[in-house]
Amino acid sequence: MSSQDSQRLADRLDQVRERIAAAARRSGRKPDEVALLAVSKTMPAERIREAIAAGQHRFAENRVQELADKADSLGEDAEWDLIGHLQTNKVRKALSVARRIHSLDSVALARRIDRIAEELGVTVSAWLQVNVGGEDTKGGFEPEAVEAALTEMQGLSRLEICGLMTVPPFTPSPEDARPAFVVLRQLRDQLVEQTHHPLPRLSMGMSHDFEVAIEEGATEVRVGSAIFGARDTN
Ligand SMILES: *Cc1c(COP(=O)(O)O)cnc(C)c1O
Repeated sequence: MSSQDSQRLADRLDQVRERIAAAARRSGRKPDEVALLAVSKTMPAERIREAIAAGQHRFAENRVQELADKADSLGEDAEWDLIGHLQTNKVRKALSVARRIHSLDSVALARRIDRIAEELGVTVSAWLQVNVGGEDTKGGFEPEAVEAALTEMQGLSRLEICGLMTVPPFTPSPEDARPAFVVLRQLRDQLVEQTHHPLPRLSMGMSHDFEVAIEEGATEVRVGSAIFGARDTN
């Protein structure tokens, strides 16, 4: 990669950070209350090293094997969150490299994570993924099913449910994603009231709409293409 490309990546990262900070202030929060996860899926390790050189250390991937390979080659300079659907037969591999899972979407998976975490002697933080748009193609719990799931997970000692996550339906204008973010936040508030389980984290917002998500309470934004450039879709 040319040094010009690395410069562009560093500049894009800076711009994203500035936009995060501005959105946080607009919502009456401090910029450091919003965590930036750089979504590096499909990007080679070399591009991730450029981001690390520019001061980014938290990355997210949606596939376990790709995450494990990158974690191997990048070592201690990078921390990893899993943001894609996790199959129960890949839990052990996932937990060997990631301790934060944004895409918890079934009670069976939660039980499996708890059991493997116990074996490995680790604790895992997870977000319950909610399908706020009710789209058939998207994973996650239906909003009505989240309370029962959360209640069933409360006895799992190695799994800490820290909040909710969503991927809203794509809308041409980021502003049109706002209602979905509001729904997630209100669902969280309602669950806290019903279950008394603290759910401080809201993982919502991607390249296209992270500022709107922050204005509505996001604590984690998952930003890929705005940092790394467009992904090859082939
Ligand atoms: C790919 C992906 C992102 C990042 O998408 P961008 O539009 O590139 O920012 C965020 N969240 C999830 C779950 C993803 O799969």
